[in-house]
Amino acid sequence: MHREGHDPEDIQPGDILCDFCMRPTWELDIPSIEGHHGSVVCVECLEVAWKTLVVDKQGMEVKPNCTCKMCLEQREGPWWSSPVRDDASICRRCVKQAAGVLHKSKDWDWKKPQS
Ligand SMILES: [Zn+2]
Ligand SMILES: [Zn+2]
Repeated sequence: MHREGHDPEDIQPGDILCDFCMRPTWELDIPSIEGHHGSVVCVECLEVAWKTLVVDKQGMEVKPNCTCKMCLEQREGPWWSSPVRDDASICRRCVKQAAGVLHKSKDWDWKKPQS
C-alpha cells in the first residue's frame, strides 16, 4: 500500500508499505510482492502466512464479505490475517502465488519454508 498523504508524482522509498505489517518495505529493502491496486506483502508476512496456511494447514476465519488484499476477491478460506490490521487478509492462493514468484526471483535469495 502507499503511505497516506504520499505524492503520486514523486513516490519515495518510504511511501511503499507492506499491507500486513505496515513497514516501509522499499526503505528497509525487504523483498516484497505487489498485488492489485498497489497492495504489497513483504517476505516476512508471506513467510508467516505460508507456514500457517501451507505447512501447518491452519487458517483464520475472517469476516463475511472480506476480500483478499492482494487479489481483491472474496474466496472461501482459509485465510491469513494481518496481526496489526484487522482489515488486511490474504487468501491462500495469493500466498502460494507470491511465494512462487519470490522463490523464482533472481533478485532475492528466498526459498519456501518447509517447516
Ligand atoms: Zn509485512
Ligand atoms: Zn487473494
